[in-house]
Amino acid sequence: MTDPELSPAAPAGGDGHLQAHRAHRHDDGGRYGSAVEPASAPVIVRALVARGSGAELRIERVRLPAPGPGEVRVTIRAAGVCHSDLSMVNGTLAARFPLVLGHEATGVVAEAGPGSRLRIGTPVVLNWAPACRACWWCRRGEPWLCADTTAPTVPRGETDDGVPLHLTLGLGALAEAVVVPESAVVPIPAGLPTAQAALLGCAVLTGVGAVRNTARVAPGESVAVVGLGGVGLAVLSAARRAGATTILAIDVAEAKRDLALAAGATDFLLSDDRLAKEVRARTESRGVDHAFECVGRAATIRAAWRLTRRGGGVTVVGMGAKDDMVSLGALDIFHSARTLRSSVYGSSDPDREVPVLARELVDGSLDLGVLVSGTMSLDEAPVAFDRLARGEGARWVVTLD
Ligand SMILES: [Zn+2]
Ligand SMILES: [Zn+2]
Repeated sequence: MTDPELSPAAPAGGDGHLQAHRAHRHDDGGRYGSAVEPASAPVIVRALVARGSGAELRIERVRLPAPGPGEVRVTIRAAGVCHSDLSMVNGTLAARFPLVLGHEATGVVAEAGPGSRLRIGTPVVLNWAPACRACWWCRRGEPWLCADTTAPTVPRGETDDGVPLHLTLGLGALAEAVVVPESAVVPIPAGLPTAQAALLGCAVLTGVGAVRNTARVAPGESVAVVGLGGVGLAVLSAARRAGATTILAIDVAEAKRDLALAAGATDFLLSDDRLAKEVRARTESRGVDHAFECVGRAATIRAAWRLTRRGGGVTVVGMGAKDDMVSLGALDIFHSARTLRSSVYGSSDPDREVPVLARELVDGSLDLGVLVSGTMSLDEAPVAFDRLARGEGARWVVTLD
């Protein structure tokens, strides 16, 4: 079955396109079987494409392959613009171009390849780190560390003018549709608010998982959150729900104050040279039990470290640059007895935890309204990148209904 909203691509002369698609499947390491001819045709969809680092973002027509064995095509309903997308285009992360942006989205299964267990019409959230379920980490219950980790950019499909295309984190979700392995989609209940459901796939899974799975915040504990983008705000909400009683939200922008308090913070503090003193004043001079660094910079990791009590935990949630070195004193590491760890994708198993978060969204125990600063059309998506670069708002979400 195909989605009537999408235009089938004209058959390519000499079948060059299909050969290219087969080659891509072989790049998967044979994970989904060998070159079985797709039953249906490639489709052309509109997508947000970066042609190079720092290049202007444009909506382009791109050609997606038909779903092969074990793959599905998902019609996108809503996709968030995440800081990692910005890192792809501003050079912080190594990316290959032309690149379809986006990796945080919800949609509906529109077409299933041979052997897929998914039914047409199933609402899903995309998962940018599908686990292989066979490697050493997967077998010990740590699928977020799967050895088969998705590369930052994955080759698939092509531009309308025939240039091989790359997809952000194997998804390229800022588009009318994606074609992905079915392991990269998680079914969710119907009827969720689409803009909020999209965030389950990155910001919310990451932020909530950092609190529940990585740091394991307990009732009555104190928390500091450094950096109040979409993930930082999700950490605040989850800390409140975990029963933390002192929840300090920290950012360089005063404009984040109202958002932070609405998300569950008990205090908003500006990140300036009075910060450590302000935190001590609210924690009986000890520092917080848990600090969450949601920026991905050495300076803010050090700040989070200094705000944490002796024996407390610092959880790095932000993804930083490989040459940004964090300097800590050897005596300080010993004497402070703090634990420094990272939270990759919220130390979560998306197949298990996205449905849990979706149910919490339905029953109202998880309110993500504050995370969605606004929605816009796909054509307006470049504006969201400008706002994100300026640190404006929480999450900007592209909706395609
Ligand atoms: Zn993300
Ligand atoms: Zn694995």
